[in-house]
Amino acid sequence: MTGNETNRNASGTRRSRLYRCEGIVIRRRDFGEADRLVTLLTDDCGKIRALAKGSRRTKSRLGGHLEPYARTNVLIARGRNLDIITQAQVRDPMSHLRTSERSILYAAHWAELADQLMVEAQENRFAYGALVRALTSLEHDRTPGLTSRICEWEFLSAAGFQPELLVCTGCGVKIEPDGNGLDVEAGGVVCPRCHGLEPRSRDVSNDALRLMRAIGRGDGEVLHSRELSSQLIGEVEGILIQYLRSVVDRELQAYKILKSLEDTLYPSAF
Ligand SMILES: [Zn+2]
Repeated sequence: MTGNETNRNASGTRRSRLYRCEGIVIRRRDFGEADRLVTLLTDDCGKIRALAKGSRRTKSRLGGHLEPYARTNVLIARGRNLDIITQAQVRDPMSHLRTSERSILYAAHWAELADQLMVEAQENRFAYGALVRALTSLEHDRTPGLTSRICEWEFLSAAGFQPELLVCTGCGVKIEPDGNGLDVEAGGVVCPRCHGLEPRSRDVSNDALRLMRAIGRGDGEVLHSRELSSQLIGEVEGILIQYLRSVVDRELQAYKILKSLEDTLYPSAF
């Protein structure tokens, strides 16, 4: 926010000083002696960072309503430097996430992606919906791997980085089955000819392309099919994680821990 906008806010001619939205707490860090700086992905206001004053005190009225991954209604006052959370009321604490380390790590992975990919103060209802759906589904989900691929794809799309899967990103021809590759740097699929010419492109199976297209169009029939093997979901995982790493240009911390946990718990899955 520029100083100019702040002035106009303060005078009340442009935007009101208080605003209300619903959000998911995607990040929290201690600030000063008793405060927390809270990052939320919200329905109407995009990603926002605001100060929850005194929220680390045991008697704080805010603290319990701003737990990680909770879905919360907040009332926020615009500040000169930092916005201030003046009221918070939990709508869904997402308690089911806390029943297993694995669920918490999936939530942490998605929250980290939301934090890295979304731009501050830019409304993105699609991204918010994707995060709410993914977190909510963990309550009954037996295939969090697929849920995570869907969430990762939706975040990439919401941030404007949806991989191209229909035409070759090298030469523009329509993609036919067999022999195609994926060039993450170029932003999507490459035809067999371009795949052969571009050393950085990786092999991709027809099934993985089909699954990603189904995710892209929200094709429930394919996504709920029992024929989706963990091997196929694992191939798509490798692709989307490579995409995400190249977009955010850093290691995905929660994902790294999640993977080491899954490799210990389910060594035969992949
Ligand atoms: Zn090509």
